[in-house]
Amino acid sequence: MKEVKIEKCPYCGGEEFIESNVSSMMSSVSVGTGTAHLAVLFATVCRDCGSVVRLFCKTPENLYPKKERRAE
Ligand SMILES: [Zn+2]
Repeated sequence: MKEVKIEKCPYCGGEEFIESNVSSMMSSVSVGTGTAHLAVLFATVCRDCGSVVRLFCKTPENLYPKKERRAE
């Protein structure tokens, strides 16, 4: 999985972020063919304005198998 580095809040310019597990809020949401508990969701929240800058899953490989590259 690629790493994403967020340095600045796009809404207020804040530079402090909290990473929080939000899967408890999303437990009833189905994601793809799996369910949310297979793909624990995290949110990066700006500490200054509370905006969710990023919503992501730490185990995307649990949602779908990686696409096979087509031979060209
Ligand atoms: Zn902000």
